[in-house]
Amino acid sequence: MATPDGPEAPPEFDTSQPTIARVYDALLGGKDNFAADREGAATYLKYVPDAGRCAIENREALVKGVQYLVRSAGIDQFLDIGSGLPTQKNTHQAAQEINPEAKVVYVDVDPIVLAHGRALLATNDSTIVVTADLREPQGILGNKEIQDHLDFSRPVALMIVGIHMHFHDDEKPDEWVRTLMDALAPGSYLFITDFVDTGEPLQKAMEQAGLESLGNGWIRTPERIEQHFLGLPLLPPGLDFLARWFPENPDAEVPEVEDLQPYQRILMAGIALKA
Ligand code: SAM
Repeated sequence: MATPDGPEAPPEFDTSQPTIARVYDALLGGKDNFAADREGAATYLKYVPDAGRCAIENREALVKGVQYLVRSAGIDQFLDIGSGLPTQKNTHQAAQEINPEAKVVYVDVDPIVLAHGRALLATNDSTIVVTADLREPQGILGNKEIQDHLDFSRPVALMIVGIHMHFHDDEKPDEWVRTLMDALAPGSYLFITDFVDTGEPLQKAMEQAGLESLGNGWIRTPERIEQHFLGLPLLPPGLDFLARWFPENPDAEVPEVEDLQPYQRILMAGIALKA
């Protein structure tokens, strides 16, 4: 197990370079990160002093979305890709608090997620962690552990939460997601959060921080983010800033966009339904 404060770097992890999962963990206030990751997090904080709040509010939006999916949409299967470390409340806690039988598959490309997940989930039969790559969706669909855990003949919620920004449009991330959605049964959902570009300097600063620390972290216009949903209809309240996004109560009174803090205008969320 990786112990960031331990005397030796664990052999299975390259700790000389920051990884997305560990930098995000550092921003969330977790302990599963190393010096290079903390430097990466410091770069974010230099450009966006509230970057830690952005990470926390992204995870809170994830919880809001999962609660909606379990409670209102009756979903009991989650394929959470780019799940990150279980630093804060994550998908399985949010789902299983409401439905203890809900099945969750965490997929992440970073092996540290599997190492920590195995220990954390040793006593949770409803949740598994798999190391796999969103860029190879056929590998995810063909993975035996995932096939054994989820029933693909029934609806699944596909979660692509806080990952698109790490891929340039030239890589065509929507095509990977399309391959996954095509394999899911009608009644499945697609839940996405992403960095947005509405022309604000702090959004650009977030992008700059990512490019400097990780080599990725692009921002996109709301119109472009809507395309991530592959033409599937967005559920109320549609795509919106996290602090205005309440899928369980889309008619809630929400702050005006101009009343949000600038850091609260960096991420948007949405959920679409495959009818
Ligand atoms: N989904 C979590 C959340 O929103 O709280 C974590 C988001 S974190 C910013 C992005 C995660 O995506 C990291 O854990 C990173 O390792 C993972 N990731 C990056 N590239 C990936 C890929 N090609 N396939 C799977 N996971 C990937």
